[in-house]
Amino acid sequence: MKITIHRGVNQIGGCITEITTENAKIFIDFGSNLPGSQKEELKTEDVERMTANADAIFYSHYHGDHVGLHHLIPNNVKQYMGAGAIDVMRCKYEALSAHQDLSQELAATERMIPFKERERISVNNRIFVTPYFVSHSAFDAYMFLIECEGKKILHTGDFRRHGYLGKGLFPTLEKFIGKVDLLITEGTMLGRSQEQVVTEGQIKQNTIKALHDHKYIFALCSSTDIDRLASFYDACKITGRLFLVDEYQNKVLKVFSEYSGKKSPLYNFDRAFGLQGYKPYRIEKITRDKGFLMPVRMNSLWIIKDIMQVFTDEAPWLIYSMWDGYAKENETYSNENVISIRKLFENHIYDGVRDGFHTSGHADVSTLYEVCKTVSPSIGVIPIHKDAGMQYESQYRIFNEGCYKINGLEIDVH
Ligand SMILES: [Zn+2]
Ligand SMILES: [Zn+2]
Repeated sequence: MKITIHRGVNQIGGCITEITTENAKIFIDFGSNLPGSQKEELKTEDVERMTANADAIFYSHYHGDHVGLHHLIPNNVKQYMGAGAIDVMRCKYEALSAHQDLSQELAATERMIPFKERERISVNNRIFVTPYFVSHSAFDAYMFLIECEGKKILHTGDFRRHGYLGKGLFPTLEKFIGKVDLLITEGTMLGRSQEQVVTEGQIKQNTIKALHDHKYIFALCSSTDIDRLASFYDACKITGRLFLVDEYQNKVLKVFSEYSGKKSPLYNFDRAFGLQGYKPYRIEKITRDKGFLMPVRMNSLWIIKDIMQVFTDEAPWLIYSMWDGYAKENETYSNENVISIRKLFENHIYDGVRDGFHTSGHADVSTLYEVCKTVSPSIGVIPIHKDAGMQYESQYRIFNEGCYKINGLEIDVH
């Protein structure tokens, strides 16, 4: 068996892991580089070369850095993903189709094969892949147990413990995974061990307080982060404010409610107030009394401006619920839209991690080490999804860049 880490050891994003054995070849994730990355992206011919003779690709979740190149994969290669994740991707591409041609992306999404949690999928009777749910800032995210040639490999994908469903992480590892031979784990937070971890529950509490103090709040956040949206939605229910959503956000919430609303009332968004077909002046009456929190995205500048013009009786506030790197001016990951939106609110901003309104979608360092201890990988650990230079220190053998041969296993880390 050969394991190749094509990308991820020196960058967060663009994750591609290949596992090959006699008569079977699979990939875990086939992501694109994060926006703002200086690295050259793979071209169609590169993807075709890499996936020649491949049987299947398994996607851990719908973030672009894990699934972004799925439309370049040849049609004969099976692509697997969670059913809810596929629906969210469809919503996203349909909405974006209004501005650009995404027919290739949509067609590839329609071809995806949904897998079920804990259902063991056989690839040519050589490699067996079983998805297990993980909590992440994406909905319907999974880690994979891969069994091949008598060896067990755990590929964590992106995960965390401090989300609403994160408490299931260790019971799942203990009950279903057990000890493994090799651990391929994300290491996003390596080197950020000092960063204080805010829980989703704390974000909800802070939002309740903000909604008591202010009548009109916009929350700049990811439109597909189920936990964050649940925190804001619940804070609205508790304070009697409207949870105001545009048409696209409403569609995504319907997917969340359909798949997860029965599992937990937290994810049942049936009282969201859809703006579909409404003009700001038409919602004025209802909204004026109740006040609102409205989740918005990077491209929502105009709708925020429109709504702000209608509600002038109290100053609106912004909850900035994203990574602070986008908001910094003249830096690698600066985002002009984010900066423009923030300027609308001047100093009326509840600011990210600092003020307790954002938290990472990724495991903190102590969780990473606890996962490692729990699955106790006999051969070692390959840390991926981490910045260059970040080291994973451990009693277990760590595979950084290089080629290795151990116990019939070949490991190639690019
Ligand atoms: Zn990622
Ligand atoms: Zn992710």
